[in-house]
Amino acid sequence: MTQPSATSLQVLAQIIETCQNCPLGGSRGKAVPGQGASTSDLFFIGEAPGSSEDQQGVPFVGAAGKLLDWLLAEIALSRTDIFITNMVKCRPPNNRDPLPEEVSACSQYLESQIAAVSPKIIVTLGRHAFNRFFPGESIMKARGEIRSFGELRIFPVLHPAAALYRRELQSVLKEDFAKLRELLNEFEVSVDADSDGDDSAQLTMF
Ligand code: URA
Repeated sequence: MTQPSATSLQVLAQIIETCQNCPLGGSRGKAVPGQGASTSDLFFIGEAPGSSEDQQGVPFVGAAGKLLDWLLAEIALSRTDIFITNMVKCRPPNNRDPLPEEVSACSQYLESQIAAVSPKIIVTLGRHAFNRFFPGESIMKARGEIRSFGELRIFPVLHPAAALYRRELQSVLKEDFAKLRELLNEFEVSVDADSDGDDSAQLTMF
C-alpha cells in the first residue's frame, strides 16, 4: 500500500527536480531532493550537494557520504534506516557555502519534507544545517546534545566533511553518533521503517 507520506515526498521530488526558484537551478547538473525511508523516525540534514551528488542526484554519495555510512554502521544503522536530504537541493558552484537567498528558496521544500516524514529526531550535519534552526550558535558548543525547536527534536553533530579535513574530529563524530544510538531507545525511535519485506520502499530516492 502506498504511504501518504511517500506520495507527498514523490510529488515534492518532482517539483524540486525542475525548480528554478533561485539561480542554482540554472547551474546544477541534477537536483538532489533526498533519499531514504518515507516513514523514518530519523531525518538527517546536510548542507548542499557536492560534485558527486550533483552528477547522481543522490545525497551524500561522495567522500563525506562514505564517512557517514561508516558512522551509521558503527551504531548498527544504515541508509535504509534514515531519510537524508540537504538544506539546499542544488549544488552551489565550486562548492561554495549556500547563500541566504538559496537557503530561503529551498526552505519550503525542507519544511514540507520534514512534515511528510514526521521524524522523531532530526540530525543536523554541520554548522549550516544547525544554524538554520539556531542562527548564530556555535556547533562546537551545541554538538551532541538533543534540543527542541518547536515540536521538533534536533540533534546537532559535526559535518562528516569536516572530519575528512581534520581527522581528529572523527572521534568527536563517533562519540556523538554513539550518543545518538542511546537516544534511539530514549525516544522509542524505530530503525526498522517500512519493514514489510519490501526493500524497494526503503531506499527510494525522493
Ligand atoms: N555534503 C553535504 O552537505 N551534502 C551532500 O549531499 C554531500 C556532501
